[in-house]
Amino acid sequence: MMKIDILTLFPEMFSGVLGNSILKKAADKNAVSYNIVNFRDFADNKHQTVDDYPYGGGAGMVLKPQPIFDAVESLKEKHGGNASRVILLCPQGERYDQRKAEELAKEQHLILICGHYEGYDERIREYLVTDEISIGDYVLTGGELGAMVVIDSIVRLLPGVLGSEESHLRDSFSTGLLEHPHYTRPAVFRGMKVPDILLSGNHRLIEEWREKESLRRTYLRRPDLLEKISLSPKQEKWLNEIKKQYN
Ligand code: SAM
Repeated sequence: MMKIDILTLFPEMFSGVLGNSILKKAADKNAVSYNIVNFRDFADNKHQTVDDYPYGGGAGMVLKPQPIFDAVESLKEKHGGNASRVILLCPQGERYDQRKAEELAKEQHLILICGHYEGYDERIREYLVTDEISIGDYVLTGGELGAMVVIDSIVRLLPGVLGSEESHLRDSFSTGLLEHPHYTRPAVFRGMKVPDILLSGNHRLIEEWREKESLRRTYLRRPDLLEKISLSPKQEKWLNEIKKQYN
């Protein structure tokens, strides 16, 4: 079972996300356990202060190293001192993607640190964490939403969490391409028709259509992804046909 510890100053923010839908079911099935820790509880001063003014002056408060170091060390100890990934949510980190989610889903123990205020004391970054993750090129008020994004994307990859083992394998990005379009009943809705091929019952042709549409969608929306993967000769041929349709 994967263990995820979350260090935050706002534990209540997690109850909605971790207490519903697939993330909750994953915990019910013992695929994952969540432990939310308020790192203020680790502050060793009378007023449980976790932040302080920046050396050298300037705006904003900085998270002190002591409560975060102590919290992480105590969590690692509880985990038997085994290798843990200690992840700092931070806009300056490595930009998060599906490849990183797949890498982290193989781990046994993750500790996520959610920042707040102006930032972290640099020694946390340098001496405590193994990974710094940004969920995009924008600045949030705190790391909690970022941690939820990371947790959601990892937990759905854990064995047995999604209904069928296959259901995430075809997802956008997992294959290196965007996923093909989906349709459900009715076959005609307000005059808009489902492609005939999907109603044909011919599984080989349906599979081929899906592969082509996945290529088309990626070419039209995210051509940068095509540069990162190697296509089979058959996919190369289809892609050339698709390109001609748009030139
Ligand atoms: N002054 C910092 C800087 O310019 O890098 C930004 C601090 S931000 C207001 C406060 C906290 O929100 C960060 O410590 C981090 O935990 C979280 N955060 C903000 N943007 C984020 C992003 N894009 N990805 C992940 N976490 C983010």
